[in-house]
Amino acid sequence: MIEDFANRNDLKNYRIEQFNEQFYKQAISSFDQLSTWPRDLRDKIGKEIEFSTIKHIKDNYSSTGDTIKTEFKTRDGFPIESVLMQYKGGRNSVCVSCMSGCPVGCKFCATGKMGFNRNLTDREIIDQIMHFQRALVKKDQSVSNIVFMGMGEPMLNLENVAKAVEVINNPMKLSIGIRRVTISTVGYVPQMRGFFTQKHKPKLAISLHAPNQKIRERIMPTVSELHPIDELFEFVDWYEKELNKRITYEYTLIKGINDQPEHAIELSRLLFNRLALVNVIRFNPSRGLPFESPVEETLQRFTKILNTRGINTTIRYPMGDKIGGACGQLHSTNSLNT
Ligand code: SF4
Repeated sequence: MIEDFANRNDLKNYRIEQFNEQFYKQAISSFDQLSTWPRDLRDKIGKEIEFSTIKHIKDNYSSTGDTIKTEFKTRDGFPIESVLMQYKGGRNSVCVSCMSGCPVGCKFCATGKMGFNRNLTDREIIDQIMHFQRALVKKDQSVSNIVFMGMGEPMLNLENVAKAVEVINNPMKLSIGIRRVTISTVGYVPQMRGFFTQKHKPKLAISLHAPNQKIRERIMPTVSELHPIDELFEFVDWYEKELNKRITYEYTLIKGINDQPEHAIELSRLLFNRLALVNVIRFNPSRGLPFESPVEETLQRFTKILNTRGINTTIRYPMGDKIGGACGQLHSTNSLNT
């Protein structure tokens, strides 16, 4: 945004640097606080550019206070949700949305159930992060990690996600190392190939959730019919060969669907000898979704089988599940479709 304003107004580079330092790093709360700029320039930018492209609606705190799910609206009235997860040791991770709603319609996902409003712009993505950055800077902290795991499928909003990643990683702007940025996708293979041949290569998480095509079709019909699991793993072969980087596989355990020992064995065969980390996540029950959570014992058994068979596996206990801020739970009460 500042680049366009600078071009229009013939600003020198040092003015852009001053802006970036105060807007992204010091996380000022209005253009009026751009103290390194003269008053007339502050007034001009205030008239030409919106300070934030999204409107804050409300915050929902987890009982422990370490997770905040925040609801926003776009200027044209569509709901967005983001989550701040604060870990011991100072890691502040923001889970951002790249769409309002989602067109993919995975059967276990609350966002998929609410339908699709529209893609978010790069600024609408960045403004979610800036909301939390402003709150953290006041406590002498900052956002340290970004995960694209909120509402929407990043590979279906590639241009805006790529632009947002550039701002996140740019040393003059948010300056968050690319290894602290994770893109999660359900597996739109052609777009993934395009994205991971670009300059900025964040970490990759694949929402797999099934050990075979049949179960994937049942719970993720849209993507798995377009890009079957064999095609997805051809991409994985390419990614490992080209980038030699580990992929995280998200696996939501759903009672009676994909949580049995034979599913764990099949998954271990699929991932054997690969650079893989499996995150096993217990299904988060959400209003209107026709699935149940497995019991803790099933979770432990599934994970043990994978680990015993040499697959690096952890159970991801979600932060914020009581506030609807866990994986597959983002779904606004302000949705225009509900
Ligand atoms: S899991 Fe991801 S891609 Fe599937 S419906 Fe939910 S947000 Fe969309």
